[in-house]
Formats: sequence, structure tokens, C-alpha cells
Amino acid sequence: MRQPIQAVNDRIVQVKVPLPFPLRWVNSYVVRGQDGYTIIDPGLHTEEAEQLWEQAMQETGFGISDIERIVLTHHHPDHYGMAGWFQTRSSVCPPVLLSREGRELAESLWGETETMTERMYSDFRMNGMDQETADAMIPHMKGFIPLVSPQPKITCIQDGELVPIGDRRYLAIHTPGHATGHLCFLDESNREIFCGDQVLPQITPNVSLLPGGDPDPLSSFLDSLQMVGQLQVTLAMPGHRDPFSGFAERAGEIVRHHEARLQQIRELLSEPMTAFSLCRKLFGDKLSIHQLRFAMGETMAHLVYLAQRGQATTSVDTEGVLSYSL
Ligand SMILES: [Zn+2]
Ligand SMILES: [Zn+2]
Repeated sequence: MRQPIQAVNDRIVQVKVPLPFPLRWVNSYVVRGQDGYTIIDPGLHTEEAEQLWEQAMQETGFGISDIERIVLTHHHPDHYGMAGWFQTRSSVCPPVLLSREGRELAESLWGETETMTERMYSDFRMNGMDQETADAMIPHMKGFIPLVSPQPKITCIQDGELVPIGDRRYLAIHTPGHATGHLCFLDESNREIFCGDQVLPQITPNVSLLPGGDPDPLSSFLDSLQMVGQLQVTLAMPGHRDPFSGFAERAGEIVRHHEARLQQIRELLSEPMTAFSLCRKLFGDKLSIHQLRFAMGETMAHLVYLAQRGQATTSVDTEGVLSYSL
């Protein structure tokens, strides 16, 4: 990682908050305004992140009470995790803005009535994952709770709303697919966008089928890419890697990546197989539990995309395990 705290321009500072996964860091952006600071996606809550934020506040010249609001592109722990830490430490308790869908998902993942882990476990088993591997998912999922605690109190925002960030107003654009309720924020006069994990340079955002979530997330994700690919953007500030130009071109490249992956899957499905066997064929068998969860969700998202379009059919064996074939 180069310098973790870098100016993007005279108003915006990029803070690369460390992650204990192969992604290495998530980008937070601090936007200065006349009356205070807005933080976009403050990162995953770890001790290293707390230390980095103390340093970032000192170097940038603001304190916790100068934070006017925290804006979240989506509810994933690497973006959402520190929001509650900032909110509870500040004497002014700044609002934490997130979509309604994002708030509901955060509750179903880490709230008192958490049910996602068990539902994911049975989905993975039904899709051919062996019991030992599926068992390892449970502590892995529960392990996220301290990394997103304390939980923030959320103020809901939605598509089409003009959200104050620094001294400007950014148009919230609903871009579901990578995450249900994902929002990008576009500065329409300066053509700058905070694009969260919708469009990333160098790496492709994960698209996962999740229990109780979008029944065809890849379709939503591709629609979102087509839509944002029409926007005039001069500077994109993504959730991972570095700010970039060529936003529309990159959106098009990601669409083509998924078209190629769908084609590869159609070829592999010449014999019936479970999502888990297909996942091993696509991504290999050396993945950590964290990577395997993403790989499995991604494989399932592509399979339901094909099934929804009549390009794959499913059958269930006597044990209730689902297989796909052409
Ligand atoms: Zn994400
Ligand atoms: Zn992310």
C-alpha cells in the first residue's frame, strides 16, 4: 500500500483503511466543507483502523466532533464497520446515511435477530458444499460482528435524493447487484462520483446470490453497470484500489468479464454439476473460507442468471442437493 492518507484534490482526502483480507484496504473519503467534514465509507472496525483514523484526523486537521455526517455506499462490513465507532464517540452524534435495504440487511446480518448465517449454511449445503467446509462458514460469519460494532443508528436515504457531502450536493443513484441497496453519489456539476463497489479498477466487484436477497443479483448488477456506463464522469472514487478516470470504459469491461464467465460456465455445464463443484472448477481448491464464500456466492449468482433465462435447468437428488445442467 502506498501512503495510506492521500489528497485527491483540495477538498477530498482518500484514507486507505486496512483490511485483514486479500483486498488489503478499503477507501474512505473525507470531504471538507465549510461547516465540517463528511466521511464516505469509514471502513472495517479494527484496532489498526482506529489508529489510522486518529492519524488521518490529526494530519487533515479535524476532530471527531467536526464530522457532520457519515455516508455509506452500502452495508458490507468493510465499508460500514466503523460508522458506529465514529457516531458513538462524537458529542454531536452525526447521522449515518444508508439505503433502507442496506439497513435491513445490516440488521439481518448482525442484529439481535440475525438469521443470515444459518440460511447461508443451508443454501451452501443444498448447493453441494460438504459439511466440514459449510461448518467452517459459521464461525467465519459470526467473526464479523466485532468488526461492525458498535452498530450505528441509521438515517435512510434513497435513489434520486440530493445528499449533502461537504459543501456540495450529490445525487444518490441506486445501483443494486453487488449489494442490495447499493448507492453511488454523483456530483452532477463537476462529474465526480463516489462509486462504492459498483465499478472498481483492476478488480471485478463480487456479485453473490445471498439468502433472502436479490433473486437474480447478476442481472441487477449488469443493469446497474449499463446505467452508470451512460453517465458523464471525469473522476471516479471507488471503494477499493485508487481513484480513476475512464469510468464508462471500465463499466463496459466488467460487463464483458461477466459475459465471458457465463460462456465459460455454459461450456462446463455439458455435464450436470452442483454449484459447489462448478465453483471448484472455476476458482480452484486453494481458497480461504472468506474467499470461498465469495466464490460460491458468485458461482450461484451466475447459475441462477442462466436458469432464469432458460439456459440451465436444475434437478434435485434424494438428499435435496441441487444440480445444474444445460
Ligand atoms: Zn461491497
Ligand atoms: Zn468493498
